[in-house]
Amino acid sequence: MIKKLLKKFKKEKKYANRFLKHYYLHQEKLNKERRGSYSERKKAGICVRCKEKAVSGIVFCKFHQKLQKGYNQKARSDK
Ligand SMILES: [Zn+2]
Repeated sequence: MIKKLLKKFKKEKKYANRFLKHYYLHQEKLNKERRGSYSERKKAGICVRCKEKAVSGIVFCKFHQKLQKGYNQKARSDK
């Protein structure tokens, strides 16, 4: 009876670790890809939200610069 419970516990623990391992590996890969494309676009002068040419000095194109300004104003007025 106890052996059975221990077996069950071990099995569940193993599964949890496998899922966590998979999750962390996947997350790390995603983060690396995101970081890579962000800095590459920044270097190339391409908007990080789309594929338009970015305004010099910032990482957004004119359209996304405008959107970003709108978001910032909204965030400020909420507080
Ligand atoms: Zn854009």
